[in-house]
Amino acid sequence: MMKRSSLRSQILFAAALACFAILSAQVTIRYLWTIPQFAELARYNDKLDLLRLKAAINAQLRKLQNFAYDNGVWDEVYQKAQSGDRQWFQQSFMIQRSLQKLSINGLYFYNNSGQLLAGMSIDNDGQLLDVKMLTQPSLMAKSLLIHPNEIVANQLKPITKTNFITINNAPAVVISQSLAPSNEIGPNAGTLVLWHYIDQQFISEMLPSAHDNIFIIPPEKVGNIANDISANLQTDDVQVKLHDKSLYLGILGIDNQLLLAIKVPQSPRLYDEELFNPALIAGIVVSIFTLFLLYLFISRKLVNPIRNLLKTISYVNFSNDYTARTNLTGHNEIHKLGRLIDRMFDLVERQQRKLTQKNQQLQNLSNTDALTGLANRRYLDEYLTALHSAGANRKQPLAMLVVDVDYFKRYNDFYGHALGDKVLQQVATTFQESTHRATDLVCRYGGEEFVLVLENTSKEEAVTVANHLCHAVEALGIPHQTSANTNVITISIGIAAKPADEIIECETLFAWADAALYIAKENGRNRYEIA
Ligand code: GH3
Ligand code: MG
Ligand code: MG
Repeated sequence: MMKRSSLRSQILFAAALACFAILSAQVTIRYLWTIPQFAELARYNDKLDLLRLKAAINAQLRKLQNFAYDNGVWDEVYQKAQSGDRQWFQQSFMIQRSLQKLSINGLYFYNNSGQLLAGMSIDNDGQLLDVKMLTQPSLMAKSLLIHPNEIVANQLKPITKTNFITINNAPAVVISQSLAPSNEIGPNAGTLVLWHYIDQQFISEMLPSAHDNIFIIPPEKVGNIANDISANLQTDDVQVKLHDKSLYLGILGIDNQLLLAIKVPQSPRLYDEELFNPALIAGIVVSIFTLFLLYLFISRKLVNPIRNLLKTISYVNFSNDYTARTNLTGHNEIHKLGRLIDRMFDLVERQQRKLTQKNQQLQNLSNTDALTGLANRRYLDEYLTALHSAGANRKQPLAMLVVDVDYFKRYNDFYGHALGDKVLQQVATTFQESTHRATDLVCRYGGEEFVLVLENTSKEEAVTVANHLCHAVEALGIPHQTSANTNVITISIGIAAKPADEIIECETLFAWADAALYIAKENGRNRYEIA
């Protein structure tokens, strides 16, 4: 379990917070900036689409206007209109095939009093069409004609008008051109009127490549945007209004009512309008993954080493065991800190070891007899106490030998203290060389007295040892002229032993051995006696 206060959980928490911050930032940027910008761009594209459509319509109208001008501003037409030569107009212009070829639906000539000189209309299939509005004088038709006063007002210069009306229940464009002489200056001789349905054919003449997506729509089908889409064909402005995912360009009729709408599909939105789109989600996933990698990195490079430091120092603090090491091997500051701590532990450990050695030496010194190097009486006491308290030792045979150098006072008196010391050293060495078991303890009890504690040793074996010791010392052949029985250094030994199954205190054994020694002295020395 990870504790809430642990470094790792805090880093995890920070990473989660960072993920959330990134998510919020991305959503906010997308919501406040990216999507609106794209939308603005798309609206601009829509506007350009509509402006292109408008330009195409104007270009198409100009073609018709140019055709009207070419035929209306022409001396011969001007004169024939003035003279009212119907037959001439009939023969020169009213040719069904020409209308079809020119791609117009109707062509009419009127004199300046508004009377029809000649005229003809065809439908899209080239069949003759009766357009009563234009063949029979009507209010409507009159408003399409150019009045002589208009020419006067225009300084006798020709006028071209473009109007949109319904002809035989379909929307159409009507170009009215005043008839004028070629030099363009003269009173009105009449009006040339040509018209064209605004239908799919018009669209395909206008934009041969795009006519499949552009449709003529009646006003009632554009819904509530009807009032906003009407375009002034003379200006560079359009209103972008969406309906059914399409853009509309409205054209007003002569009565200023919406006559038709041209529908263009809106260019597809190439950006995602959703707030949580795949790009955003991918971004977040990448962020989370990156933060996870960062977390792993921090965990590996910082958290793990710190945890290692903490663990090691806690252990040392708790156990006082300075052999523990962090063993950090990296190169950042924490790793360096780890190595410094390891070095500090090294130092403490070395000093601790030295101290232990010194203590051991001191201990040894306090347990050792300076002259002979044997254990001293102090050590013997400790040893016997330990032996006594170790229950197991009670169950084994134990022998104790108390040894005393014979007539040693006399030796000292005769040979001097220094030689006496040497004798004691020789005797001690002999004792050590004569006892082989690891559990055999030889110690100098005091003066010229020694005690041997032989664990796991029976009375018989102790006798053998004592016998051997007596002989070995005598065999040293250290001259002792003042000795009463021999002329060399000898020893006397008192032996006390207990069998395995008996419980006898060490003090008791010692007292027995001491008593046995006394008897050995009594009995003539250079011998052993058993308690
Ligand atoms: P016994 O045979 O009855 O043991 O006679 P002894 O002279 O050996 O016994 P006693 O106890 O009368 O004398 C012990 C002598 O040991 C006294 C002292 O001069 C001598 N002695 C004790 N400690 C030392 C020592 O450390 N160095 C030397 N050189 N002599 C010591
Ligand atoms: Mg003595
Ligand atoms: Mg003695």
